[in-house]
Amino acid sequence: MEITASMQELKSVDIWMGHTGASNHCTFSTEGMYNLEYKPVATMSATGAANNETKSGDINVKACNKNGIEYTDFTMEGVNYSPAYNFNLFSISKSLSKGWKLSGNAQCITLTSPSDESKIVFDIVIPTTQGCIFVTMLVRNTKITAANVKTDKQKKDTSRTPTMTLQEAHAKLGHCDKEKVIRTAKTMGWRLLSSQMPPLCEACAMGKAKQKRYQKVVPE
Ligand SMILES: [Zn+2]
Repeated sequence: MEITASMQELKSVDIWMGHTGASNHCTFSTEGMYNLEYKPVATMSATGAANNETKSGDINVKACNKNGIEYTDFTMEGVNYSPAYNFNLFSISKSLSKGWKLSGNAQCITLTSPSDESKIVFDIVIPTTQGCIFVTMLVRNTKITAANVKTDKQKKDTSRTPTMTLQEAHAKLGHCDKEKVIRTAKTMGWRLLSSQMPPLCEACAMGKAKQKRYQKVVPE
């Protein structure tokens, strides 16, 4: 791709290139980005090189047409950030995989939401020696409200972590003693809701009573 004068516009933080090859949105700027997290796996960047500097985060944007007039706003979720990226890429394939529809002509390409209620229009056409690139202006909202930011509690996926009381864990583990229950729960990754055992575990009490009775009949 030959870099023409107009392609310098692509270096703006609010300019996003419609891209069918990228599996995720990619940006070179953290401006207005929140919920930033390091990506656990190195990803292939728009520059082609795998790198482990990649973070991911969310960006609230106002979509504007080529005359700068806002027509919708939305949140881009899980955008990849790396300083190694040359441009902002808007992943068209990601939108298509979520049920958005793509249409277009020589003037613009349009993504339409599954409900037909929202549109994202790539109406800035940048000619290249090979053809053209369709670009859209997504102005970042740099004022992040507290409501947007996930707390650590929300981020941590606790839905798959077995959660139980100490008594429940104790019963699950065959009524072994408290210390062993806590140790085993830790190993199993269980979340214990209370560290207090009820003063009397019925099953244990019954077991002890049986033991006593048994001891009585066994001659010493
Ligand atoms: Zn018990």
